[in-house]
Formats: sequence, structure tokens, C-alpha cells
Amino acid sequence: MGVAKTVRLFGSVDHYVRKVLRGRPGEHLLLFNDRDGEWRVRIKVVHTDCIDTLCVERRAFPDKLPDVWLLFAPLKKAPTNYVVEKATELGVSRIQPVSTQYTNTSRVSLRRLRNVAIESTEQCGGISIPQVRPLEPLKSVLEHWPSNRVLFHCDETMLRWSLPDPGLGPTDRKALLVGPEGGFSPEERDLLRSKDFVAPLALGSRILRAETAVAVALAIVHSSVSGKKPARRR
Ligand code: SAH
Repeated sequence: MGVAKTVRLFGSVDHYVRKVLRGRPGEHLLLFNDRDGEWRVRIKVVHTDCIDTLCVERRAFPDKLPDVWLLFAPLKKAPTNYVVEKATELGVSRIQPVSTQYTNTSRVSLRRLRNVAIESTEQCGGISIPQVRPLEPLKSVLEHWPSNRVLFHCDETMLRWSLPDPGLGPTDRKALLVGPEGGFSPEERDLLRSKDFVAPLALGSRILRAETAVAVALAIVHSSVSGKKPARRR
């Protein structure tokens, strides 16, 4: 029989098990990450600054996240948390905050957003956690864009519904871009229009809050179906 693997808990996980769960040696916990899946572990030793646990059994393998990226301009703290929470629940593989000309805030706490993504993954019974990337200017993200990924630009100026081309396949690589409270600047609109990989997505005649637009647009992108790439916007 193999030797049981030890996993050492540090930092916020150590804190949670020690202070919130008040874990004691011999008790069992469920741990997960996107590399190993979910494991039942037994607490072995509670040290002063970390906790050693022994792996007992694997309960689930990592799940595959939909290959959809979310690009959004950070909002105030609560709506930004909401965006990360809803995107994680609905399923994205990458969350990329982007700074734009009218972005409400120039700083985001990556640590906070990653914790929100972890908590939301736990809450909705997922195993794999979306990758949350540091804030980057929209312009530079567009400059390094992979040409095989369609970027749906949520465009509030169209004032109608305009959904992804039904020719888009469920396996095509997709991404979604939602702007800040102030919307996109005229230069940003021109830049987006000039890119072949950008396609507009319009969510009706009302201006939605960015966080609402994220949830609605993700539901639409996830349910869009099969074939060729959407036509380039004119
Ligand atoms: N300040 C702008 C609104 C920005 S809303 C104005 O008053 O016109 C924030 C973001 O949500 C937008 O940049 C867009 O990406 C998205 N959004 C909001 N309503 C939308 C709609 N009806 N269709 C598509 N995207 C929308």
C-alpha cells in the first residue's frame, strides 16, 4: 500500500480551517484545486502557522471549464465582485480585467478577485477555478489577441437585440468584452471596429448595468450554436 500523501495548508486556507471551522486532528475536510480535483483529507497536525493533512480519498476529478474568456472594465468593489461571481457560476476559463478610457477604477485587488472566484466555484459545486489575470490596458490585450478567438463586444449603442451569428460553433473559442459604467470612448469603439476578430453583441434597447450585461451576455454566448465565424462588423 502506498504512503498517504500529506498536504500542508497555509495562509487563508489555514486561517479558515483553524479559526472558522475550528478543525482538530482526526477531523475530515474536503479540499479541491483545479489540478488534483476534490479530495477528502484528515487533519494530522495543527502547527502554529500551518496545518498538515493526510489525503484519504479522491472525490472528484477536475472539470473542464468552457473555453470562454471574460474581459471587463473593473467597477466599484461590490459590482466587480458580482461580475467575478456570476462569470464563475456561469462558467469561463479566464477573467481578464481591462482598463479603458472611462474605467471607474485604476486598481483591482487580484487577491480579492481570486478569492471570489474560489468561493463561487465552491458555492456552485465546481472544481476548476477560472484564471483571474492582473489588470491590463484594453489596447494591449487587443494587440496580443489570438486570431482564432472571437471577441464579442457588448455594444450598448446599438439599442436592439443582435445575437451571435448562429453559425458560430459551440467549440469555437470565444470571449466577451463588457465596458465600464461610462461605456467605451469613440477611439475605443473605432479600435474595436477595426479588428477582424471582434463581433458586436447587443442586448436590447435598454442600457444595462455592466454586471447585468455580463450575466446576460454569458448566458447567450454559452447557448450560441454551430458553424462558421460571425461576419465582421461594418
Ligand atoms: N455609459 C453608457 C452605458 C455603459 S453600460 C451609457 O450611458 O450609454 C456598461 C457596459 O455594459 C457597456 O459598455 C456594455 O459593454 C454593456 N451593456 C450595457 N447595456 C448593453 C446593451 N443593451 N447591449 C449591449 N451591451 C450593453
